[in-house]
Amino acid sequence: MTDFEDDAPGRVGPPPEEAGALLTVDLGALVANWRKLKARAAPAECGAVVKADAYGTGLKQAVEALSAAGCRTFFVAHIGEAIAAREAAPLADIYVLNGLLPGTCGVFGGLNLRPVLGSLEEVAEWRAFCGIAGDSPGAALHVDTAMNRLGLSIEEAHELAREGGSFRPDLLMTHLAAAEDRADDATGRQVSAFAGLRELFPGIPASIANSSGIFHPTVPGLDLVRPGYALYGGNPLPGEPNPMQPVVTLRARIIQLRKIGDGERVGYNGQWTARGPRRIATISTGYADGYPRAASLTDAKLQAGTPAGAAIVAGVRCPFAGRVSMDLITLDVTDVPDHAIRRGDLVTLIGEGLDIDDVGARAGTIGYEVLTGLGARYAREYLEP
Ligand SMILES: *Cc1c(COP(=O)(O)O)cnc(C)c1O
Repeated sequence: MTDFEDDAPGRVGPPPEEAGALLTVDLGALVANWRKLKARAAPAECGAVVKADAYGTGLKQAVEALSAAGCRTFFVAHIGEAIAAREAAPLADIYVLNGLLPGTCGVFGGLNLRPVLGSLEEVAEWRAFCGIAGDSPGAALHVDTAMNRLGLSIEEAHELAREGGSFRPDLLMTHLAAAEDRADDATGRQVSAFAGLRELFPGIPASIANSSGIFHPTVPGLDLVRPGYALYGGNPLPGEPNPMQPVVTLRARIIQLRKIGDGERVGYNGQWTARGPRRIATISTGYADGYPRAASLTDAKLQAGTPAGAAIVAGVRCPFAGRVSMDLITLDVTDVPDHAIRRGDLVTLIGEGLDIDDVGARAGTIGYEVLTGLGARYAREYLEP
């Protein structure tokens, strides 16, 4: 992305007038969301999860804005992301959630990055390194309480507490499997298992809550919360009003308008058929830009009442027409008055009430996937706090 970086402050990518689509990232809203989560989680510290390029919004910009607002602890997934976060926040605590890859201790030591150790093997490798290195950064210990994905088992945590010698993590954490689903009692079981684990490692700061966990009535804030999705405007309370401010707006350009007759088909494999004369707008973005192809609107989906993609055109919500292509999407804009729409106009794909959770649902997926898939060809504009 930096290849395209131009001189205009807050602009990344091609000049807006040459771009197929424009992405606006409101860093003020991002900071406001962080402050809201921090107030809600107090007295716990509020960190920020900025993995996957800050959920597609831009890691450097997000880390700089959040650091300036007072955020001191960041979580990423990969070492490369941690290196970028270190450049943006020289003094922050930076944890790498995916842990140690074999032979990478030196990178952590050199840049003062903290691995989230998720197995006894990783703990052993880290301890050996610390024994040689003397002065080494801290490390978190991840204990698995439900997911069987990453983290020591509870038995292994007991073993480590018994015979861990001088090893003391600086953060004890677990990850909730279903915090957004109040009906799932896995959360309660995870919370009580984690309370038991904390007794094994007395005096060590602890962290359990992701975005939805911060809003869950039985999840304690403990010492540190780790929100990701809600920072970027995702709804931590699915099915309820979203307490967060939208951060991302995506607008795409109309490059052609055409009138078609009754029974004509639109797009690959003719999956959408005009009922009566229709007006079609073709916009300059597609699945290569991260807009999910699964949001295509086909005759079969229409018949079944399956949700599909939509855009706001001159204030009117317009459905997709046919398949999402690699670089193009076709919209049925028949309901927009002729005079209100022209070649070159921008239509809204995310924003104006079409939020990321909604877009995810229209593609049969979650807003997380939509956000983290946001493409590399957009003209990006960052609104400073
Ligand atoms: C991604 C992640 C988070 C953030 O989760 P959100 O649901 O986006 O708030 C927190 N903790 C861990 C371990 C994660 O992997």
